Amino acid sequence: MKKTILTIAAHPDDEILGCGATMARLAAEGCEVHILILAEGLTSRQDTRDRKSNLKELSELAQTAVLAGKEVGAKTVEVLDFPDNRMDSIDRLDIIKVIEKKIDEIKPRVIFTHNKNDLNIDHRVVCDSVITACRPLPDQTVKEIYFFEVPSSTEWQIGSSSDLFLPNYFVAIEDKYLQKKMDALKIYDSEMRAFPHSRSLEAVKALATWRGASVGHNAAEAFSVGRIFVS
Ligand SMILES: [Zn+2]
Repeated sequence: MKKTILTIAAHPDDEILGCGATMARLAAEGCEVHILILAEGLTSRQDTRDRKSNLKELSELAQTAVLAGKEVGAKTVEVLDFPDNRMDSIDRLDIIKVIEKKIDEIKPRVIFTHNKNDLNIDHRVVCDSVITACRPLPDQTVKEIYFFEVPSSTEWQIGSSSDLFLPNYFVAIEDKYLQKKMDALKIYDSEMRAFPHSRSLEAVKALATWRGASVGHNAAEAFSVGRIFVS
């Protein structure tokens, strides 16, 4: 079935780290893939948020997100401007309304987004907001919600087992799709770190290998199922 997919991420690079290869596979199989990135992903590196002095870098990062999205076959990539690592300072309703507007425009059947208990506060806010925006009203187009893992946030959370990411949905990724994910991450060069940081190319590849081996396959991306409604 050719589905319309919407990936909703907090920061530029989360969408590729979380489901880059799956998006590449789905796009190649004829699905229509869209990406929405909510926060600008830059200004948290300063003591106070100074958007103006970073306009050039901000627009460069947004352009990078578009290039990375195209690499994995996305039809559209939209990068918004919520404050990086400060999304808990925004009224939740304002975030929900933006997501609702996007869903109304794209009418996706499938959503990929953050895991509810990531260490990063923006990831948690985005997950909560997506769940609210996707509440199952009779005219809701979204029938499937999956939560992805983002290296350097999902595994950095500390908590009881009920809080942690428990993958129960695996998407096999063949070499060509894993390669597209790696190529898209190379486009995000400024966001990647040197191994053994978990947000390094080597660690991302190792995770894909492990998630694949967990289900007897060469490579996979793993998700936790939010809700599936077979209508
Ligand atoms: Zn992030």
